[in-house]
Amino acid sequence: MGIILLLMSCMGVVTHQDAILKINETFPVKAFALGAPVRKAAWKEPPNVRLCATSEVSLSRIYRALEYWSRIGYEFGIVRKDNFSMCMNPKMGEIIITLPESGFNNSHMASTRLYTDTRTGEIVKAKILVLPKNAKKERVIEHEFGHALGWSHYPQRYHIMHPNWYSGGFDSYGIRQK
Ligand SMILES: [Zn+2]
Repeated sequence: MGIILLLMSCMGVVTHQDAILKINETFPVKAFALGAPVRKAAWKEPPNVRLCATSEVSLSRIYRALEYWSRIGYEFGIVRKDNFSMCMNPKMGEIIITLPESGFNNSHMASTRLYTDTRTGEIVKAKILVLPKNAKKERVIEHEFGHALGWSHYPQRYHIMHPNWYSGGFDSYGIRQK
């Protein structure tokens, strides 16, 4: 019994509130950020990446986004495309890219759901939700991978983790993997 309980506590997963990338400046955003970007959690092992074909995102687009993160020190496992229509939920150790659930707000470009281990605090899986039309826009996939790697929003103009798409950019200040 003690062993069973211990196993259960090891497998506990916390689902974090979705980090949402917005299109317009519909809410006040600070002109510049104080301090460095904050990383909520990190992966224990390089995550695998599974692209759901239903998302209509191309594998080359995914590789381009991974290249951005690889250049600043991040590693990834196996990258593959999944043609199965039921491609919706990430497995342990995996980041998936899939379509949003119904009711996805029109002013949202994309969002990412992060799952961490209750015991270790490490990221165990992540789910990137994006509509095909938004996935084609520059930086959107790169930004969402940032969340999948544990990074929070950082309201510095031209930063990759800026919460507002129009004000963002490719700046990687403070997020380089050491
Ligand atoms: Zn975001």
